[in-house]
Amino acid sequence: MSVQSKYVCSECGKEFEITPEFMVCTVCSQKQKDDKPLKGILEVKYSAEGLYDIEELLPLEQSWIPDLPVGFTPLWTAEYLDDHKQLYLKDDTSNLTGSFKDRASILVAAFAKKHNIKEIVLASTGNAGSSMAGIAAACGLKATIFLPKNAPKAKMVQALQYGANVISVDGNYDLAFDLSLEYSKKHKLLSRNTAYNPLTIEGKKSVSIELFKQLGDAPDYVFVPVGDGVILSGVYKGFKDLLQFGFIEKMPTVVAVQAEGSAAIHDALQDGSFKKVDASTLADSIAVDVPRCGYYALKQLQKYAGQSVLVSDEEILMAQKELSEKAGLFAEPAAAASYAGYKKTKKAIDRDAKVVLLITGTGLKDIDAASRMLEFPQEHVKTIEDI
Ligand SMILES: *Cc1c(COP(=O)(O)O)cnc(C)c1O
Repeated sequence: MSVQSKYVCSECGKEFEITPEFMVCTVCSQKQKDDKPLKGILEVKYSAEGLYDIEELLPLEQSWIPDLPVGFTPLWTAEYLDDHKQLYLKDDTSNLTGSFKDRASILVAAFAKKHNIKEIVLASTGNAGSSMAGIAAACGLKATIFLPKNAPKAKMVQALQYGANVISVDGNYDLAFDLSLEYSKKHKLLSRNTAYNPLTIEGKKSVSIELFKQLGDAPDYVFVPVGDGVILSGVYKGFKDLLQFGFIEKMPTVVAVQAEGSAAIHDALQDGSFKKVDASTLADSIAVDVPRCGYYALKQLQKYAGQSVLVSDEEILMAQKELSEKAGLFAEPAAAASYAGYKKTKKAIDRDAKVVLLITGTGLKDIDAASRMLEFPQEHVKTIEDI
């Protein structure tokens, strides 16, 4: 069997070889405007002959993928959570560094190894950085992470703990993004900036392949928490590959769940254009001013009749508490947003539909958010009579 792959620009269709030089389309990216999503996102396209396994549809030989506990995450139904029979939790808190981001990081690390690049660079405010730090550590690679100076401390701790080179930027995420790109170009290193490196989308598609394998078919609905829109795009990409090669027959309904205070993609789905927002939500992993993968994500939602729903911070916290108390799954706020979005829309869902919630990160990454819903014991006992 043989699988061929190439990059194709998602806007103009121009083709590129899959090499570390190409990240965004050389033509479309010239039209990049400030404060807008990335132009010229490249998509991996395959042609295959003979017998092959769907998991072989990768932009490099499967043998490059490091043997790490990433992906193949549990899919289960929580009996006491909800009365919908086929409500599945896809538990990506169980990845090596505790978030869905590992799916992208592992593919980028494999690509770096194949091309003999020793250092991976990225800008991140949170999980992408700590994920790349951990995966790089496990692959004998160096990770350099550009963090805005006001990034939450917990996220920095995880990256430093894994031994990453953390560069604190006197500015916001946009400045961190630009500096990280300059740095990776100057030193000929590999950038893992989300959406900018096409392999971040391609890596995240693995979740759809797994869902297909675990359920024996495509689900009917997938609820996805959305910030930059790369997870959403990866989910679509996986199902698109499955459709292209005849493994499934229909595209699931993908529901983009966004926080009310960070709703750029939801708003664009309503009125067709992107406006810069001043994101404000306690679900920091989905708080973005400019969704980097916005144009591509929007195109998928429009083409495949995707939906979107907004949830408030209060609804997110309630959902987070319920997931913990009724399913034993402690998710970070962004990850609990998919359950909050499901609760808001479930009336419209058929009783026998297969519904999947992506639970994208563990709650232990952000204990301050969860603490808001808790009552800590005020008194301390010394004897059994004190109780
Ligand atoms: C990054 C992240 C998201 C959102 O992914 P995007 O690709 O930015 O849309 C959701 N949940 C968690 C836990 C994340 O880390």
